[in-house]
Amino acid sequence: MPIKTPDILPGEKGYISKKEKTTKKKLKEKIEKTKQRKKETTIGKIKTGSKGYRIGKSKITPNKEKKYPIWRYSKKIGEIIVKNKGAKEEINLKFNRFGGIGNHKHLIQDADFQFQWTIREQELLMTQGKCFLCRKKISKTAKPNLYHYKIFKKRIELLEEASEVPQEVLSGKLTIEKGWEKFNNILEEGNRYYMSLKDTALICQSCAKQKGLNN
Ligand SMILES: [Zn+2]
Repeated sequence: MPIKTPDILPGEKGYISKKEKTTKKKLKEKIEKTKQRKKETTIGKIKTGSKGYRIGKSKITPNKEKKYPIWRYSKKIGEIIVKNKGAKEEINLKFNRFGGIGNHKHLIQDADFQFQWTIREQELLMTQGKCFLCRKKISKTAKPNLYHYKIFKKRIELLEEASEVPQEVLSGKLTIEKGWEKFNNILEEGNRYYMSLKDTALICQSCAKQKGLNN
């Protein structure tokens, strides 16, 4: 039987060993896998930004939508939902909201804010005679109830503003990273507003109860 000799022998120019071949093959596979992964996680014009932000593996929902989690390191900060509408794809993105806007229980833990709060109450006890809401006389001896009378409106405004950020991410104008920062900064604005004690007044006991102020 004739012995089959390779065209190029070891040591000759152009010779590729079996080991090198395997390495090359593995590298090629890796590149292909990365490409495939990139293809899978490329959704519309969405860009992730820095490395800490990732789009995770998709899941198919019972309504046949594709849902992709958005990760910031190990925290899930939102999701992308892809709906098939006929031949067209409809892409939606939403960010998760952690914590409320102007959450009293949370913010009052700040010692300096607590102090400012008390000062404001004492100040108003001297200057404001009647309940801001019902105009009944305010007792100077009962526990004062400081009320942010515009916080409800402010919350709605900020939530509306924040809800427009995903659109900027979808259009590619902002990366997920920048969008997430902007989204949180808008919500944080509500806390800054609350802590500024702007638009606050005293209200009477029964109005405070009605507004759920002491919960
Ligand atoms: Zn009142």
